[in-house]
Parts: sequence; C-alpha cells; structure tokens
Amino acid sequence: MTDTVIGRGVAEGGRLFREWFAELEGAGERGQPAAYVFVMGSLAELLRAFDFQLVFPEINSLQTAVRRVAHEYLNEAEDYGYSPDICGYVKADVAVQLRKGAHPMGTIPPPALSVLTNACNTYIKWGEIWERMYDAPAFTLDVPGTRTAGGETWPGDPEFARDRDYVARQITELITICERVSGKAFDIDRLREIMGHANRMGAAYKEVLDLNRHRPAPFNAVTDGTIYLGVANGFRGTPEGAAYFEDLVEEMRHKIAHGQGTLREEKYRLVFVGVPCYPIFRRFNEMFAEWGGAFVSSTYLWFASGGANLGWPYDLSRPIESLAEGVLVSVRHAMDAMFFQDRMIAGMIEPYAIDGVVFHPIKSCRTVSTGLADGRRALAETTNVPSLFIESDMMDRRVVSEAQLKNRIDAFFEGLAVRRAGA
Ligand code: SF4
Repeated sequence: MTDTVIGRGVAEGGRLFREWFAELEGAGERGQPAAYVFVMGSLAELLRAFDFQLVFPEINSLQTAVRRVAHEYLNEAEDYGYSPDICGYVKADVAVQLRKGAHPMGTIPPPALSVLTNACNTYIKWGEIWERMYDAPAFTLDVPGTRTAGGETWPGDPEFARDRDYVARQITELITICERVSGKAFDIDRLREIMGHANRMGAAYKEVLDLNRHRPAPFNAVTDGTIYLGVANGFRGTPEGAAYFEDLVEEMRHKIAHGQGTLREEKYRLVFVGVPCYPIFRRFNEMFAEWGGAFVSSTYLWFASGGANLGWPYDLSRPIESLAEGVLVSVRHAMDAMFFQDRMIAGMIEPYAIDGVVFHPIKSCRTVSTGLADGRRALAETTNVPSLFIESDMMDRRVVSEAQLKNRIDAFFEGLAVRRAGA
C-alpha cells in the first residue's frame, strides 16, 4: 500500500492537470465554448451544466512562472503598454491572448463568455480586456462582503437571506446569458448532479486541510497544497475531482498512521500567508525546509479554493438558492481571508500548534498584499507567535532576490531556535 498511496495526490494531480490542458487545447476542435472564470467565485457548477470548457486565466498565468518563462510574457505585455506594477497574472494572460492562446502547456481557447466576481477589483478590469479583445460578454457577480470583521451572517438571519436573494437573482440572470451563449437549455437536474460532486469534493478537501493538524503534518501546505488547490479549482463539480480528494483523505490518513511527515524532522510548524513565490517555487520552500520548517497551513488554500476549505454542503433540493448561499459564503470567506486574515490565523495557532507565521506580500497582487503589515501587527497584539515578513512576487523574477530572502529566513529561524532554547 505504501508504494501506491504515498505521493499519489501529487502524481495524480500532475496527471489531471496535463489532461486538463489537453482538454483546453481540444475545445476549439470540439466546438465547445470556453468560459473564462476566476478562483474566487468561479460558478463552475453552473457553467458545467451548460458544458462550457472552463478556463482559469490565473492558473494559466502562474504556470508560466512555475515553468520559468513568465518574464517573456510579462515583457511582451509591458511592451504592448501595460504598466510594470499591475497584476502579473493579467499581463501574462494578455501576452497569451496576443500570441493567440500559445501557452507552455498548450493552446488556450478564446472566451465565449467570462464570469467575474468582485472578490478582486482586478478581475473586473481584466474582464474588460477580454470584452475589448473578443467582444464576448463579461458577467460580473456582485457578492456582498462581511460588513465588519467577525460580523458574518448565517442562514436564519434576515440579513443573510437578503444577501442570498441578491446573489440568487444575479445567478438567474447568468443562466439566461449561458443559455444564449451555449445554445443549450438550462437543466436543473444536471446542475443538481454537478453540485453533488462539488459536495463530495468540498467535504474531502476540508478534511485534508484538517488532517494537517497532526504532527508531523502529512502534507506541505505550500508545495503539495498548491497542486491540490489546482485540482480543487479545475475539477470542481466533476466525479474526478471528488474521487481525487477522497483518495487524498485516504493518503493523508495512511501517512498519519505511519507517522510520515514531509521532512525528516519537523522542527517548526508554520503558516504561510499570501500567494506563493512561483518564480522560485521549490527553492522558496527549501529555504524553510533546510531549517526543519514545515508549512502546515496556508491562507492561499482558503481564499483561492473557491470556498472548498469550508466544506459548505449544497442543499440539492433547492439548487439555485443553495448555490447562491454557497457562492455568498465562499466569496465572502475568500475576501475575509485576505482582509481580516489576522483573526483567522489567530484561530489556527493552537489547533495546528503553530511556531511561526510567514507573511509573504507580493509586488503585483495588491488585493492579497494590502493590509498584511497591519494584519501582522494585529496578530502580534493578540498572540505571542513570532512572524516573518518577506516580500517578493508571484510572477516577476526581476523583484525576487533569493539571497535577500535567505538572509531574512535564516535570521527568523535563528530567532525561533533561541526562543525555543530559552523556553
Ligand atoms: S490582483 Fe491578486 S487576486 Fe487580483 S487577479 Fe491579480 S493575483 Fe489575483
């Protein structure tokens, strides 16, 4: 069993992703319309019910950085006129579009429709770029956020019902657009079936995250976690996605039963806050692993998971209303995970036995990075857990200094060691 189970999630995740990009490439030949969507509120369940090929431009863009060619795409978009200091994902995508979909992992089909949410202001401007390029409709779903930190409302509260109805009305409008663009009639039973797959996946995804409370943690929340996250987004609402995460639960339980972690010796348990440093993805993690630092959780696995981390179950007896509730709760949670992240991190210190928090603001994502310094200060006021604040980028290797990062990381661990010795 050891040979077949351990490492299965990473290997299967890689296989699913290669298949996913092959599917994207074949969409044009199949005559399948593509819907461009975002990780925070993809509405994958609804779009799948119309057989749209889902395209996640954020994932396409980060793949250019992991494959170390992002600079070519960024330069091309900057030469075209985009500013060096805007979101790197947008610029990489613009270059992909200028190259008629040419991407290191295959050809990306153009959008027949794009669906955006207000979880990031860049989403809305990004959608406008596709509208100008392709004359394809861009639908913006406005999801009410949490009014005050800790002030979320829940089913049973009239304010929650008002917010849910507001989202449900917009979903009904989107159904009409989907029917027009796809040429297919809406089938509520198909939506129900897809939401059932999403329910299975959400429950298993949440369990995987929870299982990392064990010591040693069975997976690395930055490296392995990013692979899991890709599957959670790309395969949401599919039987393959549900089966993948159910298998992953089995793998994690197996590793826990055999005391297997991600490092030879897990000395420090860390939370990662922000978006990973994709230009030096593996090396970034090594600089922590060399000191016995293991990432046991990451806010990225919350806000970029489309709400899968909540394991929010849809009520299949009332699909539209329940989908509206799920979208409301998940997009709201994604925004909270960025804006009020100090509260969420403080809540994990004890259950995950956290030794340190790593804040990673990045130059080209203001949405995630703005407020991290304040979040760090707020966390310091309520907990006595040490934190590290290191800046780089998720796409642009021109602003990633490995030597500088290493100096800061080494000093952080020296501090942790002194603190532990003192204790
Ligand atoms: S600004 Fe940040 S959250 Fe917004 S699209 Fe870019 S990477 Fe994503």
